[in-house]
Amino acid sequence: MTRKNKQHEKWLLELTGIPTAAGCEHRVIDWVKRWARKRPSVFLRPDQFGNLELRRRGSRSTRPIYFVAHMDHPAFVVTQLKPSDRVAAEFRGGVRKEYFTNAKVIAYGSNGLTRKGLVSKRLAQQHPDHACGDQYEIHFKPQAAGVSIGDVITWDLTDPHICGDRLYTAAADNLASVAAALSAFGEISKPSSVNTRDVRVLLTRCEEIGFVGAFAAASNNTLPKEAELIVLENSKSFSDSPIGAGPIIRVGDRLSTFSPHLTYQLSQIAGEVQAKDKKFTWQRRLMPGGACEATAFQACGYDTACICLPLGNYHNMNEQSHRIAPETISVSDYHGLIRLLCVIGSQARRRSDDMSLKSSLARNFNRHKTKLI
Ligand SMILES: [Zn+2]
Repeated sequence: MTRKNKQHEKWLLELTGIPTAAGCEHRVIDWVKRWARKRPSVFLRPDQFGNLELRRRGSRSTRPIYFVAHMDHPAFVVTQLKPSDRVAAEFRGGVRKEYFTNAKVIAYGSNGLTRKGLVSKRLAQQHPDHACGDQYEIHFKPQAAGVSIGDVITWDLTDPHICGDRLYTAAADNLASVAAALSAFGEISKPSSVNTRDVRVLLTRCEEIGFVGAFAAASNNTLPKEAELIVLENSKSFSDSPIGAGPIIRVGDRLSTFSPHLTYQLSQIAGEVQAKDKKFTWQRRLMPGGACEATAFQACGYDTACICLPLGNYHNMNEQSHRIAPETISVSDYHGLIRLLCVIGSQARRRSDDMSLKSSLARNFNRHKTKLI
């Protein structure tokens, strides 16, 4: 393995093990701030909602390209302290209710303290199908001392680890995308990189409760209106979108379809990478198992595409055992995604008109137009 890949895997393991929840992404934000501080050429700016923008110092084009990833994952947030060994906590994210019965959890106190517990019962429900917004009682043994309102409680799962080509981790969705975005951005923004596009990273908050950070960024000028966005996701794998068959250029999701022009360009670039290296694989799919921030940005008028990694045990739901389980992705898919992003970011001087579907059709027309006569 190259030193570069080793570094990217280290960030993958570190980031996907960080406890996070919608509205409580501060530990991920701290990690990213430390990452940026070590790179003098990188300028980090939080917007007024706490979304993070990273760019190369001095970059100021009107049409930058953004790699976008969200920093939260379905988890509980403590809302009420109860006598002795119990707390009430709100679940923030899309997980079906049957997975909660007696599920093991772990609370992360602001002072670094952790406490193990069990989901004991549902206290209040918001939605008949999934648990987003529901209140649960969490039971700690021997006691809940040290757990405070606002603390994050996650499923009690294995520490992130790689076995063969698989990463097993509590929160691949979407911290693996944060790791991929920073890995690619780190390569592209090295002082030795020349002739690259103005690539930036946007890391958003509160995606799991309905793209709240993305909508705030899109409607409050966090991004220039002319920006092109590539939303990175981890998306539920199906038999026609297998884990290990490469990153997926996602043409849409459960709610909408994305920019045909930008999606076509990304597919062209992926095809060119594969033409030069047959070992590079990629896929092109709809991925209707969920919805992603590309839908929100596209709806707000941004030219948006999506690239995702096929994900096993989506939102920690193992559909065979019907138990909470680690999420899993392919490590080679992860490296393939970073490689593809690096190529996209280095397509600097290429005029996007030359890469449009219309210009490809026009070239074919000119070749064959005499046949119309
Ligand atoms: Zn998710």
